[in-house]
Amino acid sequence: METPSRTKIIHLLKRTDFGTTVLVKGWVRTRRGSKNISFIALNDGSTINNIQIVVNMNAFSEEELKPITTGACIAVTGTLSQSQGQGQDAEIQAQKIHIYGQADSLAYPLQKKGHTMEFLREKAHLRPRTNTFGAIFRIRHHMAIAIHTFFHERGFFYVHTPIITGSDCEGAGQLFQVTTLNLYNLPKNESNEIDYANDFFGKQTGLTVSGQLEGELAALGLGAIYTFGPTFRAENSNTPRHLAEFWMIEPEVAFNEIEENMQLAEDFIKYCIQWALDHCMDDITFLSERFDKELIDRLRFVLKQNFIRLSYSQGINILETAVNNGHIFEYPIFWGADLAAEHERYLVEEHFQCPVILTDYPKEIKSFYMKQNDDGKTVRAMDVLFPKIGEIIGGSQREDDYDKLTTRANEMNVPSKDIWWYLETRRFGTAPHSGFGLGFERLLLFVTGMANIRDVIPFPRTPNNAEF
Ligand code: ATP
Ligand code: MN
Repeated sequence: METPSRTKIIHLLKRTDFGTTVLVKGWVRTRRGSKNISFIALNDGSTINNIQIVVNMNAFSEEELKPITTGACIAVTGTLSQSQGQGQDAEIQAQKIHIYGQADSLAYPLQKKGHTMEFLREKAHLRPRTNTFGAIFRIRHHMAIAIHTFFHERGFFYVHTPIITGSDCEGAGQLFQVTTLNLYNLPKNESNEIDYANDFFGKQTGLTVSGQLEGELAALGLGAIYTFGPTFRAENSNTPRHLAEFWMIEPEVAFNEIEENMQLAEDFIKYCIQWALDHCMDDITFLSERFDKELIDRLRFVLKQNFIRLSYSQGINILETAVNNGHIFEYPIFWGADLAAEHERYLVEEHFQCPVILTDYPKEIKSFYMKQNDDGKTVRAMDVLFPKIGEIIGGSQREDDYDKLTTRANEMNVPSKDIWWYLETRRFGTAPHSGFGLGFERLLLFVTGMANIRDVIPFPRTPNNAEF
């Protein structure tokens, strides 16, 4: 008998050419059976669904089947047949079984269903073999494709911004340092400061917290660009929504003002959610049944809504009214305060029951590069706030006036010598422009319904955690 080439389970399950000999390879989810017949549920990662392998015990011995336990990796050659059981999916009548790797049932950690998410995080090397993480990582892939497709279709160019950077303009103290200096014997200058002249780049460097500044340079030449890459923040916030290493998508568009920026953000998120419903329904349905019954309704709901747009000041009024009416927040709320997740979620989930885009924040709580409004107090920032997540996008129209930008950088102690190149774009052919950053894992939290950001990235990096 000629051995057929391997077919993926996602394709096999749709076939109806019963009687054909096929070859399938994958990992055993379960094996059950009786004296006469044994059933193996096999999964190869191509779909959430398993294919059933039917093993007639006339043709196989107990001894042969014994090593085929949960987690083992096997290849099965057999006849494609119509399942007698539920549904009309194809199944395989086994003719030949090859065992690639056994999984000792006493030692293999993923035996039963219903392991806790915490337990599975400790088994991050094996969790891609679970239904849940198979579903999540397939959705993660599809969302990446959706993002590239969205921008490509609209004429945006994908730009690769550097991962190692010499400027920390975004946030104080969030930079992971990159160095080849000997930490046990640091070179010092006369004033006993570390002498970075001898470091690899001849200056102090770190891992980027955002590709935006370089993205702006590209947009002011290519017109419309986006970045999609890893970003790093040494923020010690141990929350279900923060990672130390996460992926960010940052479009930047010349000639866009804040209103067009808001529209782009709204269209972009809706496109991604629609893509998920169109391409990932099996996985989303599985996650919804297992974790979050309202997931699909919530995705559809967001697609139907026009996101509410209002100013930070209006948002503060609503929150203050809520406090006056007896609502209790953990953190104080007043004009000038940075909004905590509880405030963002109050606006979205209780007050409007709709995604919200908040604009025109006090300049003190936002970055130096945001365009200043005429009131002298606020900047043209926009945060997109989502149910269950809080902030999913942060962006702004950028300050395009050279003097205003340099003055603000100085006021906020951003060293001009580190960003001379950024400032120069406002000296030569400056243009109004806008952009934003979407946290990829925050989008995935929303689309998968997962509660913890550690569960939507294969190998999470968080304080005290860089295993795997
Ligand atoms: P937050 O207030 O939630 O910490 P931020 O104001 O620091 O967010 P930005 O600097 O505007 O966020 O970054 C843009 C986007 O990147 C955010 O809207 C969010 O989706 C995502 N993001 C920011 N920090 C993290 C993080 N530590 N882990 C995962 N995603 C993040
Ligand atoms: Mn932050």
